[in-house]
Amino acid sequence: MDFTFSEREKAFRKEVEDFVDEELPADWVEKNIYWPGGYGTLAQFEEFGPQVEQFTCRLAEKGWLTISWPKEYGGAGLSHMEQAIFHERMSYHRAPGAGIATGIGGPTIMRVGSEEMKKEWLPRIAKGEIRFWLAYSEPNTGSDLASMQTRAVEDGDDLIINGQKIWGTAAHVSHCAWMAVRTDPTAPPHKGISLVIVNNTSPGVTIRPLINICGFHSFNEVFFDNVRVPKKNVVGEMNKGWYYLMVALDFERLVIPIGGFRRTFEEIVRYARETKHNGQALSQQPLIQNKLVNIAIQIEIAYMFFWHIAWMLDKGLVPNIEASVLKLVTTELSQKLANTGMQVMGHYGQVENISKWSCLQGRVCLGYLDCISALVGAGTSEIQRNIIAMRGLGLPRK
Ligand SMILES: Cc1cc2nc3c(=O)[nH]c(=O)nc-3n(C[C@H](O)[C@H](O)[C@H](O)COP(=O)(O)OP(=O)(O)OC[C@H]3O[C@@H](n4cnc5c(N)ncnc54)[C@H](O)[C@@H]3O)c2cc1C
Repeated sequence: MDFTFSEREKAFRKEVEDFVDEELPADWVEKNIYWPGGYGTLAQFEEFGPQVEQFTCRLAEKGWLTISWPKEYGGAGLSHMEQAIFHERMSYHRAPGAGIATGIGGPTIMRVGSEEMKKEWLPRIAKGEIRFWLAYSEPNTGSDLASMQTRAVEDGDDLIINGQKIWGTAAHVSHCAWMAVRTDPTAPPHKGISLVIVNNTSPGVTIRPLINICGFHSFNEVFFDNVRVPKKNVVGEMNKGWYYLMVALDFERLVIPIGGFRRTFEEIVRYARETKHNGQALSQQPLIQNKLVNIAIQIEIAYMFFWHIAWMLDKGLVPNIEASVLKLVTTELSQKLANTGMQVMGHYGQVENISKWSCLQGRVCLGYLDCISALVGAGTSEIQRNIIAMRGLGLPRK
C-alpha cells in the first residue's frame, strides 16, 4: 500500500503552508490555546474576532472553506484528499477553518436537500456568510436523541416551533440553528422528526449562556417560543429528519483537528527535551520516553484512519463505522494527550497561564479540563462503541 501523496497533493500542501505563513499572525499558534478534540477552548476564537473574520474571508475567497464542494456551489472542486490535507495543515497551525455549516450542514444539504435549498444555502455557506450551530440535545435528550420533545406544528407555509435545546456550542456567535424537531408526535420516535434551519434572529428565540469547565462561554441553552419558520427551510422531506441526522452526525465525526494533536504533542516533546530535572533532561528518563512513545503511536494510528477516510470519500464510499472509529480514537487521544502532558510537566502543568510559572501558555492545564468534552459531544464514546458493535461487528442491539 502506497501512502505517499501525489505530486499535485504535495504542491497543494505547500500552497496551504505558504498561505498560512502569509495570512496568520506570527504569534497566532503560540497564543491560541485551543486543545485538540475539546469544545470548551474553541470559545477563545471570539477573542481574536476581527482576525478570525479576516482569515475566514480570505479562505472563502479561495473556495477553501469548502474545498471538495463543486465549483457551482462555491467550492474549489478539489478532492477529499486535498480537503483532508488542507484540514490537517490548518489544524496543525490552530487556524480557524471549517465550521458546522461548511463541515456538517452543507455536506448534508448537498446529499439530501432539494435543488432550491442547495442554491439558497450552499453558496452563502461557502462564502462564510452563514454559521450554523447544532440544535439537537434537550434537557432530557442526549444519547437517546429520538426522544426529543421540541415540537414544530405546520401552519400554512410555515412551521411554528416550541421547546428548548441545550448545549448548543457557539449558538451565540452563529446565524442559524441546524435543528432537529418533532413534527409527527403520533409516529414512532424515529419517524416523526424533521431537520430544519432556523434563523437565530427569529422572534421567539432566546439564547442564554452556559459557562464551561474552562471558564469560557462556549455553549448555550436556547428557548423557542412560537418561532415561525418557513417550510422551505426543512432539509429534505418532512419526518425523514432522523435519517438525515445520521448522515449529519457522520459528517460531524469527521471534523477532527488532526494536525492539532501532532502540534501539541511536538510542544510537549520539546518541553521534555528542554526541561531539566535533577540535572538531567526529562526526555532522557525512560519513563517519560515510554509515555511519549505511547502517544506518538496513537497519533500515527489516528492519522491512518484520517487519510483512509479521505481516500474512501474520493472513492464514493460512505464512511459510517469509520467515522465512529475516527471519533473514538481521536477523542480518547485528546484525553491521553492531556494526561501525558500533565505527567510530563508535573506541578507546572497545573499552573494557569496568568502565572509566571505556567508552561506552554497553560494549554495542558486547560486541555486537561477541556478534553472531557471531546468524549461526550457528537455522541459519547459508549455510543460510538455501540455503533461499531452493531454496524461493524454485527452484534445484537441489546
Ligand atoms: C462540550 C459539549 C458540547 C456539546 N455541543 C452540543 C451542540 O452543539 N449541540 C447539541 O445538540 N448537543 C451538544 N452537546 C450535547 C451532547 O451531544 C450530549 O451531551 C451527548 O449526546 C450525551 O448526552 P447526555 O449528556 O444527555 O448524556 P446521556 O445520554 O444521559 O448519557 C449519560 C451516560 O450514559 C451513557 N449512555 C447513555 N446511553 C447509553 C447506551 N445506550 N449505551 C451505553 N452507554 C450509554 C453515556 O455514554 C454517558 O456516559 C454537547 C456536549 C458537550 C459535552
